Amino acid sequence: MTGCVFCGIVDKRLKASIIYEDDFCLAFEDINPQAPVHFLVIPKRHIADVLEADKEIKGRLLEAATIVAREKGLADDGFRTVINCKRHAGQSVDHLHIHILGGRWFTWPPG
Ligand code: 5GP
Ligand code: ZN
Repeated sequence: MTGCVFCGIVDKRLKASIIYEDDFCLAFEDINPQAPVHFLVIPKRHIADVLEADKEIKGRLLEAATIVAREKGLADDGFRTVINCKRHAGQSVDHLHIHILGGRWFTWPPG
């Protein structure tokens, strides 16, 4: 989608540190990490948010997220998974993305 930063990363017009790719999903390091490990998993196709995603893409995104989490060594201590949806949650990029954060303790409830 024109003007979408994450579509730009999918198209390789914009640079990112890509750590996983398959036919449906891309994972890359967050540009402003909030933990020692912080990466994003996105659908290659432009989908605005999780409400717009079908069952297949939701499954594929979570599958990719857990593959990369294991590869990053997060399986033993665990990690935080976040999907911000629309303004109350603070979604700032309107292309669906799953955050995976790890390598430190997290508090609950989130802010
Ligand atoms: P949101 O607030 O929408 O849930 O999260 C958007 C995330 O995308 C933020 O954590 C932000 O740091 C990250 N982000 C925004 N623009 C870019 C970019 O151009 N490259 C990368 N790698 N991450 C980005
Ligand atoms: Zn997009």
